[in-house]
Amino acid sequence: MELWFSEMHTDNVKLGFRIRREIEHVRSPYQDIHIFETYDYGKLLVIDGTVQLTERDEFVYHEMIVHPPMLTHPDPKRILIIGGGDGGSAREVLKHDPDEVHVVEIDEEVVRLSRKHLPFVARSYDDPRVHIHIEDGIEFAKREKNFDVIIIDSTDPVGPAEKLFSGEFYRYLRNTLAPGGIISQQCGTPVYHPEEVCNVHALLSREFRYVRLYFAYIPTYPSGMWAFSIASDEPIRIRRKMDFPTRYFNEEIYSSSMVLPNFVKEKCHQE
Ligand code: SAM
Repeated sequence: MELWFSEMHTDNVKLGFRIRREIEHVRSPYQDIHIFETYDYGKLLVIDGTVQLTERDEFVYHEMIVHPPMLTHPDPKRILIIGGGDGGSAREVLKHDPDEVHVVEIDEEVVRLSRKHLPFVARSYDDPRVHIHIEDGIEFAKREKNFDVIIIDSTDPVGPAEKLFSGEFYRYLRNTLAPGGIISQQCGTPVYHPEEVCNVHALLSREFRYVRLYFAYIPTYPSGMWAFSIASDEPIRIRRKMDFPTRYFNEEIYSSSMVLPNFVKEKCHQE
């Protein structure tokens, strides 16, 4: 008998993975979490039926959510990751030699399962500069201050992540950031949910002087075309040379990923 996991991208489109085995399944107080071993994509982390990462292509997402904001800052030392309990974003942040990385993940089961089954991302937790806080990112952000870069590596805007995509949250973040600080956030696909992508851009633009959307090609996410936003009160441009290895990101991609296709410009009313 063949085992398959499929994620419904719309009512009429889905992406399926043939599964070798289910490694673990946990229903946490927040969400339903599966780890599978696939035939073609290595290990697969699924939360509430949606692909969070696969061993084969997670590098694209993690490099792209981390390196653009980190290289936009002249000297990022204190970093906050909201969500990101798998550890993949922290792994990329460590390439910039920060002093402190704070991962604020609401669901301790995501951290536990990643440590147990996904060492290729969770190995970042072995670094003493990485501090894990199990709590709602919004509460943490209201209380703490002085972060050079904040990376919002959350699930999509439903359930516990919904408020991480609100104007109210972005207002708090202004105070959580140090002067000259930078934010990045994953914000979905413009192919199926253009309103979600444009909404993040519009809300961030009310709080920050400079906001850009940028894109990466992630084979296992809906449509493969994934959007991120970057926001700051300082102009968005690369300020440091790369001196670390990557598999997707490079300095040319820093610029080219911010070039918007026409259908996105039209939807989001961007020049
Ligand atoms: N790469 C992923 C994606 O976009 O599909 C995101 C991965 S990471 C596993 C997302 C994490 O955000 C989840 O583990 C979830 O528990 C966490 N999360 C959701 N809402 C949160 C909140 N309000 N505060 C902190 N963490 C949150």
